[in-house]
Amino acid sequence: MTTRIGITGAAGRMGRTLVEAIDQVDGLQLTAAIESPQSSLLGADAGELAGLGRNGVTVVDSLESVIDSIDVLIDFTVPAATAANVAVCADKGVAMAIGTTGFTPEQQLVIDAAATRIAVCKASNFSTGVNLCFKLLDMAARVLGDDVDVEVYEAHHRHKIDAPSGTALSMGQVVADALDRDLDRVAVYGREGQTGARKRETIGFATVRAGDIVGDHTVTFAADGERVEITHKASSRMSFARGAVRAAGWLAEQKAGLYDMRDVLGL
Ligand code: NAP
Repeated sequence: MTTRIGITGAAGRMGRTLVEAIDQVDGLQLTAAIESPQSSLLGADAGELAGLGRNGVTVVDSLESVIDSIDVLIDFTVPAATAANVAVCADKGVAMAIGTTGFTPEQQLVIDAAATRIAVCKASNFSTGVNLCFKLLDMAARVLGDDVDVEVYEAHHRHKIDAPSGTALSMGQVVADALDRDLDRVAVYGREGQTGARKRETIGFATVRAGDIVGDHTVTFAADGERVEITHKASSRMSFARGAVRAAGWLAEQKAGLYDMRDVLGL
């Protein structure tokens, strides 16, 4: 059976890569491509935008107008658009893979509510390598415990609009959970001026925005005399797109609930 996939943000950096990734997987078919109503690319062919040649899927400005042709929606847009789209999907019983990052607590509540009605896989990072790193970070934090300082570093391209990255925050959350700390209380987002000495329980975040960096993340566990660093470097958006497409295929078989990529990979 073929699973019909829609993409919101189809003309974006991730959207175009997703169109290419879907084309490489048997059993999945792109049936809808949606962009923002302001996009200059409405009416374009989604296959041509992705560099594949025409695939007959026209970029439209409304999810509602094509929702009946979709089994699973993949959404890599902006938080406000994703929050609106997840409500539409919940009304229509369409599962959703969410890659957008930078949600407010209110927008997260909208996603949580939708996930009581449809299957939602939300991941700050869909790459297999990063999800393996989450597992390694949990292990490292449990072994090294309170004897180390934990710092999270991330670097992305100059166009990224949120910071720290959703992936960096997820990495911090994995460490905080393993060490039984409340991330909201112990996170330190950048340092400047007379900061005082570092408190052991804090988890620091450092952000770089430069050039065309696809996504670098390093978590440092630093003790006196040694340190462990767990690093992931993405060199192509295809690593995220392949993961999101795999999640979309998996979601078609799932009941309502909020899942993440670790569920998809069985980690
Ligand atoms: P991008 O190139 O700016 O693409 C976003 C696209 O969404 C743009 O084409 C934008 O159109 C479109 N859009 C905005 N509002 C929309 C609406 N209401 N309906 C439909 N489309 C709409 O950004 P990107 O680099 O692809 O990243 C997108 C998101 O994915 C970001 O939040 C990023 O952090 C996240 N991301 C996640 C992962 C992961 O693995 N989870 C990996 C990479 C990126 P306009 O330009 O016309 O506004």
